[in-house]
Amino acid sequence: MSTSAAVPTGSEGAISGRGAVTDRLVEANQRYAAEFADPGMDARPVLKVAVVACMDARLDLHAALGLELGDCHTIRNAGGVVTDDVIRSLTISQRALGTRSVVLIHHTNCGMETITEEFRHDLEMEVGQRPSWAVESFRDVDQDVRQSMQRVRTSPFLLSTEDVRGFVFDVRTGELREVDAA
Ligand SMILES: [Zn+2]
Repeated sequence: MSTSAAVPTGSEGAISGRGAVTDRLVEANQRYAAEFADPGMDARPVLKVAVVACMDARLDLHAALGLELGDCHTIRNAGGVVTDDVIRSLTISQRALGTRSVVLIHHTNCGMETITEEFRHDLEMEVGQRPSWAVESFRDVDQDVRQSMQRVRTSPFLLSTEDVRGFVFDVRTGELREVDAA
């Protein structure tokens, strides 16, 4: 797989041109700010929970989990995998900002199931430099959720590893399915 060939095509629609998308977001923010009232919260999440999830655009965490502003930390990356940087965020979340529960969310039809570690090799061939990070692709979503739970539970940096649960979100039905840790 060529990395350059992996760039999606045919997604040009109403939004095109350099900066046009960002301009749209900035305009939306102006409307948001006009209605915004200071919620008077501090930075500690009300529900004392951190949610680690895939960055997938079809997963609206707040809507899917009934979360409100200020309720939780959301930590997202490609796959929702527990990398060193996720451990960094969870450590700060727990030790500086008081969260105690961790919820891990992968999902069906994840892009990480369709790429392999070959991605790194292809990238190296293309740019002449091998990335320092692992791609963290996976074949079996349940197994990857289990591995992520294990990485959280065994981290020496976290204060609280008792309440760690993992789920797969179905992008077609909107339902969460819990993955057993065992
Ligand atoms: Zn995904």
